[in-house]
Amino acid sequence: MTYLAESNRYESMKYNRSGRSGLRLPAISLGLWHNFGGIDTYENGRAMVRRAFDLGITHFDLANNYGPPPGSAEENFGKILEQDLAPYRDEIIISTKAGYYMWPGPYGEWGSKKYLISSLDQSLKRMGLDYVDIFYHHRPDPNTPLEETMSALDLVVRQGKALYVGISNYRPEEAKEAIGILRRLGTPCLIHQPSYSMLNRWVEDGLLDVLEEEGVGSIAFSPLHKGILTDRYLNGIPSDSRAAGPSVFLRPEELTDSVLGKVRELNAIAQERGQKLSQMALAWVLRGGRVTSALIGASKVSQIEDAVGAVANLEFSGEELERIERILQG
Ligand code: NDP
Repeated sequence: MTYLAESNRYESMKYNRSGRSGLRLPAISLGLWHNFGGIDTYENGRAMVRRAFDLGITHFDLANNYGPPPGSAEENFGKILEQDLAPYRDEIIISTKAGYYMWPGPYGEWGSKKYLISSLDQSLKRMGLDYVDIFYHHRPDPNTPLEETMSALDLVVRQGKALYVGISNYRPEEAKEAIGILRRLGTPCLIHQPSYSMLNRWVEDGLLDVLEEEGVGSIAFSPLHKGILTDRYLNGIPSDSRAAGPSVFLRPEELTDSVLGKVRELNAIAQERGQKLSQMALAWVLRGGRVTSALIGASKVSQIEDAVGAVANLEFSGEELERIERILQG
């Protein structure tokens, strides 16, 4: 059946400006790192993307290596675009990245111009696109001059293969330098994509200050700490969860008594606020307006509905923030 997007899709989502750019991103964005690959059920991924768009999620985040196998999330997303979302292309912000290992030999990872340009060309083919909205350098490369990597980002914009560029996983000092080079080249850095959650707060140590000063947006990845900041693991490890699955990015050993103790206390505060813990965790990364968008992952449609529900209550009282702080410091 032909997909027709919900006509009320823009009514409840909030859209935040990315730094000092003209682009507004949804407060909740959807990433396709897990659950959209060749090993996953295509129809489930398709249902999640459609539901997300129906709920006002206009931004979908990919990377060359998402799968598994690497590249397959882009292929599947390309298929979803073709089958369902093509008529809405101008309402959608699609990002992809290059930086991690993608193919063998000296040109298949890190930050050379050779790798970045080839990789974006491959991504465009896999997704069946003429251009992506945002192209990121996925991780800093200690062995390639930053000027070369940034000039590759500048070039893809001039070639019309990307509208905007961003950086991911850059520490404050290197982010500042990269942002300065891009500005001099005439292609301002739109956004930085760092990890950030209640259980991972490194960005508070300088990075958010740099981004604010420079007028660059930020999109926080793994804001649910890969699922730990939800009710998923309150009663053991469900067999369909990431911690039980093949992903090496969440091992059961991370679910220590100390972490789960904090999660239970946070869950009690969320309940008092009339929210799920996942919703409070998303509201928390967005508090104070310094983060443009919370970039979630999902394995089921209901998780996307939960995430969008967070937008109904993004405010915290000073007392709630203090109680949360005490739990996190404890
Ligand atoms: P999250 O912290 O949002 O974790 C998502 C996982 O949490 C889901 O797959 C699901 O796991 C679980 N979950 C989500 N919602 C709920 C809910 N309501 N109730 C219970 N469990 C829930 O983010 P990810 O780690 O998935 O990362 C999100 C995106 O960030 C990626 O897709 C990618 O786009 C980007 N990213 C970028 C990186 C970079 O280097 N730039 C690195 C990592 C991610 P389950 O399978 O258990 O259901």
